[in-house]
Amino acid sequence: MTSPLPAPTPSFSSIAGLRVLVTGGTRGIGLGIAEGFAIAGAHVVLSGRDAAVGAAAAETVAGAATAALGSPAGPVAFVAGDVAVPDDCERVVAEAVATLGGLDVLCANAGMFPSAPLDVMTADDVDAMFAVNVRGSILAVRHAIPALTASGRGRVILTSSITGPITGYPGWSHYGASKAAQLGFMRTAAIELASRGITVNAVLPGNILTEGVAGMGEDYLDGMAASIPQRRLGSPADIAAACRFFALEEAAYVTGQALAIDGGQVLPESPEAVG
Ligand code: NAP
Repeated sequence: MTSPLPAPTPSFSSIAGLRVLVTGGTRGIGLGIAEGFAIAGAHVVLSGRDAAVGAAAAETVAGAATAALGSPAGPVAFVAGDVAVPDDCERVVAEAVATLGGLDVLCANAGMFPSAPLDVMTADDVDAMFAVNVRGSILAVRHAIPALTASGRGRVILTSSITGPITGYPGWSHYGASKAAQLGFMRTAAIELASRGITVNAVLPGNILTEGVAGMGEDYLDGMAASIPQRRLGSPADIAAACRFFALEEAAYVTGQALAIDGGQVLPESPEAVG
């Protein structure tokens, strides 16, 4: 016997009051995700390795929330930790849960992407990539399970990439493998955690204009924009919007899904198709 269908509602539920941890939330996409949640009234903890950058990022996020809401709706705090260090994964989650008084949303976003062409790639290159992008994500999720279960509407949102799951780029084969591995993890985690009311989904950013990407120079940026049907790189706010969707009450029936946010970058069959 299935339960009665919930009645449709005239407007979306709110992000306000949700307790959110964003790993790698001190710069780039993670900072955009943290801001996106904070300006909608969520309580946010962000993590990263660099304490000075992290403290400044928490101030930036609190400032954005103040501009949007008058004041942050709840704590905006930084916790230092390296997701490549298993004990740090556990401690960062524990400190975030203590600061927030629980946890509703884990954005496992911390990632690295140094290039290493296959001819010269070392075992250490591969291990370092997987320690951060794969093991770091898995352990953050693993340690967040009790708090997400207690939430009753827990959400895990992994930051994967179009690179690996959908596309390839010379120099980044180990990166692409790590980002595809995140989706392999996601699918089984979504099954294991479904009965606890936790959904597990992934955002797949295309080329997002972060400080690192901006530093690659005008030629790179112009060439990249020309290859994207929407003719622009994405912004961290574009990724934050997708994360907020997965966090909504209405997204409770969406799990194990990967959402590309790329302005249509993966669609063209050839450069001519973009016109
Ligand atoms: P970014 O600007 O370099 O920021 C990375 C964030 O992760 C920083 O907060 C950094 O802080 C943190 N971080 C890095 N290594 C860490 C570690 N070992 N432990 C804890 N925190 C760590 O990178 P981004 O471009 O925003 O990328 C964020 C995520 O999006 C990554 O997973 C990346 O693969 C994915 N992505 C990015 C793009 C893009 O176009 N930018 C496209 C597709 C996917 P600290 O350095 O202080 O630790």
